[in-house]
Amino acid sequence: KRLVEGLTKTRNNIVSGIDSIFSGFSSIDDDFYDEIEEILIMGDLGINATTSIIEDLKRKVKEQHIKDPAECKELLIESIKEEMNVGETAYEFENRTSVVLVIGVNGVGKTTSIGKLAGKLKDQGKKVVLAAADTFRAAAGEQLVSWANRAGVEIISGQEGSDPGAVVYDAIQAAKARHADVLLVDTAGRLHNKKNLMAELGKLNRIIEKEYPEAYRETLVVLDGTTGQNALAQAKEFKEVADITGIILTKLDGTAKGGIAVAIHSELGIPVKYIGVGESIDDLQKFDANQFVNALFN
Ligand code: GDP
Repeated sequence: KRLVEGLTKTRNNIVSGIDSIFSGFSSIDDDFYDEIEEILIMGDLGINATTSIIEDLKRKVKEQHIKDPAECKELLIESIKEEMNVGETAYEFENRTSVVLVIGVNGVGKTTSIGKLAGKLKDQGKKVVLAAADTFRAAAGEQLVSWANRAGVEIISGQEGSDPGAVVYDAIQAAKARHADVLLVDTAGRLHNKKNLMAELGKLNRIIEKEYPEAYRETLVVLDGTTGQNALAQAKEFKEVADITGIILTKLDGTAKGGIAVAIHSELGIPVKYIGVGESIDDLQKFDANQFVNALFN
């Protein structure tokens, strides 16, 4: 229900257009496909995904000898799901000790998402430790402490301006001592200097490799869904400097650009693992492409 509510704006944007096409055309012709294409592009699904969805739809229409545009809606939904590899099951957190580095530019919702994720994992019975390794921004550290308190998880912080590597080192010792399941690391993962970012992530990864070799490693990028194609561009840049294992796409409740989740899947091949559909702790949801597409169209 939260998912459906959270995606209202995107749904209105895509569905109202699509429905008017299905009722407005009496035959399936090039104009019909052009209109669908335009709506998908406007819905931020991106050129790649859109082209492939339209091709797939045309193939289905031909194979099934469909003549009535109204019958195309279900086929279109199917094509979008297939584009997102819906066969894959929703992402599950690894059932072993994990270290998760979280990166993202300022303001995308990184701190909030880490706080929500910590609360979520704790509710699932996992022991979580947070590392406030974004030591450049004092405010970020304080905000994360208040999320940690709300979620009831331990947090290891350093002084403002202190070495993020030292914070991660301390956090690993704490995680080991407490037999933590997940260590979530808030990093100052910014993009304005790729060389620095690469160096910093490289350094943190080396510390983790050395101090915590048994841990499964993930790197999640947080992207602001309201920025649409810009979020996609950011993800591409991050992909150049780090081994990204997944994406947290935030603020989908405030935007009509939720289709960007499809574009990210299709253009980068990186799974969207969580989506943010509001500001409360329950508003971070595990991403399930099947549910997502259903929420958009039904
Ligand atoms: P950071 O600079 O990347 O750490 O960003 P913050 O975590 O401080 O978030 C920036 C703002 O976005 C805050 O006001 C958050 O409450 C808000 N925010 C984060 N995620 C979501 C979301 O999924 N939905 C909405 N509506 N707001 C969000």
